[in-house]
Parts: sequence; structure tokens; C-alpha cells
Amino acid sequence: MKVISTIKELRAELSKERQEGKTIGLIPTMGYFHQGHLELMRRAREECAVVVVSLYVNPTQFAPSEDFESYPRDFERDKRLAENVGVDYLFCPSNAEMYLPNHLTYVEVEKITNKLCGASRPHHFKGVTTVVAKLFNIVKPDKAYFGQKDAQQVVVIRKMVEDLNFDLEIVVVPTAREEDGLAMSSRNTYLSAVEREEALVLSKSLQHAKELIDSGERIAQKIKEEMQKLIKSKPHVNLEYISICDHKTLEELSRIEGETLIALAAKAGKVRLIDNIVIRD
Ligand code: AMP
Repeated sequence: MKVISTIKELRAELSKERQEGKTIGLIPTMGYFHQGHLELMRRAREECAVVVVSLYVNPTQFAPSEDFESYPRDFERDKRLAENVGVDYLFCPSNAEMYLPNHLTYVEVEKITNKLCGASRPHHFKGVTTVVAKLFNIVKPDKAYFGQKDAQQVVVIRKMVEDLNFDLEIVVVPTAREEDGLAMSSRNTYLSAVEREEALVLSKSLQHAKELIDSGERIAQKIKEEMQKLIKSKPHVNLEYISICDHKTLEELSRIEGETLIALAAKAGKVRLIDNIVIRD
């Protein structure tokens, strides 16, 4: 595995690979790898001749009040894990490499970025789409891999790809979970023992929603209320939102119909957590 920190060097390496007719897979990440990241890498390894992982904690997707500075980082461990999965290139640029001092251009997907997580993180997706568009232009992948864990991110990136004619395929990989059901996240490392235990209510509430739907419930409000009741019983967990929405447009639904996304965000102590399931009615 080659570790590369400049755009110029990565482009030179990938242009050789491309000339040999090899397909290139990209996995954008912010590092501190867990099984969720590794699943994306494994999937890319199966499907592509060349696997590029970017490891970059992108400052433009964090608000000043958020956890950019304290976001977990462990480069040596990440390097070992990526190498073990068979990644070919680990791209870890500096901030100076990614954003020139006179950077002025941003990519913004409208409307669908104001809902769900966008309601409390108004600049977040603008940072995500900008950095992902830059990575697409730097790597020019045939396929790019994203986790279903960040369901809104997938919807937003698909829209950007469609609207800006990026010539690549988006592959979505299912959410990797701890044995007890908690969605894996780099931020889980910051949960205290009691927060970790109570955070389990998030995946449990989604499972409960699925059970209600399986037993015939179709009214979104009723499902939300049942979920809220469960989550409110955990004093360390503060619910931010539950959305029951169309999985493509993110429009809120009053009735469960077709493919429905049930997504939520909450804080366990200071740690912001998200989770979701897709219901195929
Ligand atoms: P991050 O490093 O958190 O920005 O995540 C990098 C990629 O890994 C994104 O596409 C995430 O959706 C994906 N990812 C993060 N956690 C999980 C998980 N538990 N299961 C599947 N994919 C995940």
C-alpha cells in the first residue's frame, strides 16, 4: 500500500493505473477506522482493480462549535488496518493541500440538505459535497463507496452526481453494527459506559419501528411516538429528530408506503449519534 499526501503524486500514480485499463474504487473517509469502514474497503477490493482510500478530516463540514479538533485520529492504526484489507493507495492530504488559502468554490445541493441532520448542521453537507466533489476530481474513480449509516449523505451525494454529471457509480454498503446493534461510528469511542449502554436505545427504537410496521402499523406519527417513548426513558440520550421519509426525496411521510427511510439523530452525553433503517413495504 502506498501512502500519498499530495494530489500531484496521487494523480501521477492513478493515471498509470488508468492507462492499464484498471477500474478505480474510492472510499472517502475521515479515518479512525472500524468495521464499517473496512466493509467499504472490502467491497471495493472485490469489485475494483485499484482501491483508493482517502483519509481526511475535512474542516469545512464541521461548524466552529463542533468536534473537528477532538475528532478521533490514529494514523498508524488506520494505516495498518487499510493495508490488511488490501488497499492500494491511502491518500492523506493536509489541509493546505486540499484548500488553497484563496479557496472560494463550494458545491451545494439545495433543499434536501436542510432536512434531517441539515436542520441542526446547516453548513455540514456543503462541506461534504465540496470535499467529495474535489476527491472525485482528484481520483476520477469508476466507483465510489459510501455507508448506509449516513443515509442523508448518500441521498445528497447521489443528487450531486446526477446534477453535476459525475461519471461514476455510487455503491452503498449496509450499516455495520456492534454485536448488540449499536451502529459503528468513530465517535462511539467517546461514549462513557453509561452513555454507551443507553445509546443502544437508538437501534432498538428502529427495530421497534420495524416490528410495529411488520404488525400492520402504517401511521408515521404513531411510530414516531412509540420510538420517542423508548428514547425518552434513557436520561443520557437526547433525541434531536426522528424522520420517517421518502428514501430518495427525504420528504416526510404521514403513512408508510413503498421504500421508507426511518432516520434519527440524538446526543448521548456530548456525542452526536445517527442511525437509520430502510423499510421496504
Ligand atoms: P466517516 O469516516 O465517518 O466519514 O465515514 C466514511 C464512510 O464510512 C462513509 O461513507 C460512512 O457512511 C461509512 N460508514 C461509517 N460508519 C459506518 C457503518 N457503521 N457502517 C457502514 N458504513 C459506515
